Amino acid sequence: MGILVVGSVAFDSVETPFGKVEKVLGGSATYFSTSASFFTDVSLVAVVGDDFPREHTEFLMSRNIDLRGLSRNRGETFSWTGRYGYDLNDAQTLETRLNVFETFKPSIPPEYEEAEYLFLANIDPDLQMEVLRQVKKPRIIASDTMNFWISSKNEALQKVIGMVDILIINDAEARQLSHEPNLVKSARTILSLGVKTLIIKRGEYGVLMFTDSTIFAAPAYPLEKVFDPTGAGDTFAGGFMGYLANTGNLSESGIRQAIVFGSVMASFTVEDFSLERLKTLTYPEIEDRYRSFKSMTHFEGLPGED
Ligand code: AMP
Repeated sequence: MGILVVGSVAFDSVETPFGKVEKVLGGSATYFSTSASFFTDVSLVAVVGDDFPREHTEFLMSRNIDLRGLSRNRGETFSWTGRYGYDLNDAQTLETRLNVFETFKPSIPPEYEEAEYLFLANIDPDLQMEVLRQVKKPRIIASDTMNFWISSKNEALQKVIGMVDILIINDAEARQLSHEPNLVKSARTILSLGVKTLIIKRGEYGVLMFTDSTIFAAPAYPLEKVFDPTGAGDTFAGGFMGYLANTGNLSESGIRQAIVFGSVMASFTVEDFSLERLKTLTYPEIEDRYRSFKSMTHFEGLPGED
């Protein structure tokens, strides 16, 4: 069972305290689909400009990502420029150039309409809605967004949130969306928009999952080597959805495992710039880190209790 993802494919220019890269491969759908491709088949819907190099499409194809939904339009590829200080949780956007996304109308190839798993990665909520209109009846719809869209397209975004099963956003976005500083109260407000499961990413502090009746917390993997957090959120979402689509297990315990796989994948992405670490990653390394997560978070119950 594969996943259909719509989102950005981008050129990123990023500066962190540990280095600087210009015009490297990035974008929400790029990180998501590369991460998910370790677990399942992925089909990508996005647009690039005529300046997008062949080596990037070849890389995505080498991960078996179906690019029939990737349009190549006249103009420049979407680009994002950002900077991080020593607090790597805090991304500062210096420039967002929508370029070919300004006029893009996603058209879902007929063979993707029956997709069972749909991920609306960070992109204009009007485009997310356009995709929702074209797919038949996915088993799970998840979505992401960011401050840029929360402030510029709030109404459209709220409509999308009301139609998805799982919303995956970071803590600052949750606070901005709910106008509520306390994350637990913020989660209640966001769940009242109609989404059933809310996953709040907290960078190096891990992830919180909220439903009406449960809360689950997973830490981030403690790493000595963190170079660039760009794409960590999308890589998390790719591992999370990829594992769900691979197993089809949507029980509470299946979702918890998927959250840990998402965290494992994100922990690799931040070890290098762009998608460099994901390019060399192997499945046994993923499994090893999953085991480390398990032993790192295991503790016994009270004496005489499980
Ligand atoms: P994250 O996982 O949140 O670090 O996402 C980083 C990726 O989001 C980068 O590779 C950017 O190209 C992409 N991005 C940044 N701003 C936007 C935006 N406004 N819409 C869509 N994608 C974006």
